[in-house]
Amino acid sequence: MERQPITTQTRKLLSRHQIALKKSLGQNFLTDAHVIGKIIRSAELDRETGVIEIGPGIGALTEQLAEYAGGVVAVELDDRLVPILREQFQGQSRVSIIHGDAMKVDFRRLIGEHLNGLTKYAVVANLPYYITSPILMRLLEERLPLTHIVVMIQKEVAERLRAKPGTKDYGSLTVAVQYFAEVSWVATVPRHVFVPRPNVDSAVVRLSVRPKPAVHVRDERLFFRVVRAAFNQRRKTLSNALSTLLLNGKNKETLNRWLEEVGIDPRRRGETLSLEEFARLADGLADHLG
Ligand code: SAM
Repeated sequence: MERQPITTQTRKLLSRHQIALKKSLGQNFLTDAHVIGKIIRSAELDRETGVIEIGPGIGALTEQLAEYAGGVVAVELDDRLVPILREQFQGQSRVSIIHGDAMKVDFRRLIGEHLNGLTKYAVVANLPYYITSPILMRLLEERLPLTHIVVMIQKEVAERLRAKPGTKDYGSLTVAVQYFAEVSWVATVPRHVFVPRPNVDSAVVRLSVRPKPAVHVRDERLFFRVVRAAFNQRRKTLSNALSTLLLNGKNKETLNRWLEEVGIDPRRRGETLSLEEFARLADGLADHLG
């Protein structure tokens, strides 16, 4: 029998289970096998690789992950979808369906319990868009043993992840993600391949997690404080943006001297600084603030 197009399968399954999709949970399901193929190829899976999937929905991507990976642990928040997924993957020992919130689950424990014995780990997901930035930061900041993260996200956010200094898309999310990972663009995905169709286009990006951060900093917390301060008031000069946040607006001359000491013009805007310059700046400030 000829296989039905994935759009028809998705609609039928949802209507059979009388499931109305929830916008609040970012439920836009992928219905294009070609796009799923691109995600899978970019994930470079093999039987040694364990995959964490966030938001499996009704399993369109999960099915392919299970085909190529050594194990899949899929975390779904919607309790209406969990029984459908469990039924679909019943008897497939490589797939574990977890009912939970990806912002709260203990990923390290899930890896230990469900992907035990595998040697590499990756996150592969068509993310619910409302948690894109916090979930990416969580995965990176927790320093999980991941080699890469392949995600479908809003195109506009993807542009921010790969942005260069001095552009409108360059911001604290760019710096934070590029600090931990190398970003590459996999594909631009038009909105019409989702059910229901979202209001924006999407993109698949691959974050290859660096064995060591892109720049060495003496105090990581201070580095991120400086980055946030610089972008919080992105129209201001570095001197103004940093003095408000770091020094309560006082001692601007002192701060200007510190900036000059590390070779950074206080009249520049934070949005023009490269990762290396932010690192040099934070290390210079650490001498005085530490
Ligand atoms: N993977 C499916 C696909 O590609 O068709 C569905 C992707 S859909 C964009 C996002 C999925 O994430 C939905 O199934 C939604 O219920 C789920 N979800 C939303 N918030 C979540 C959370 N905090 N933790 C885990 N899953 C979540």
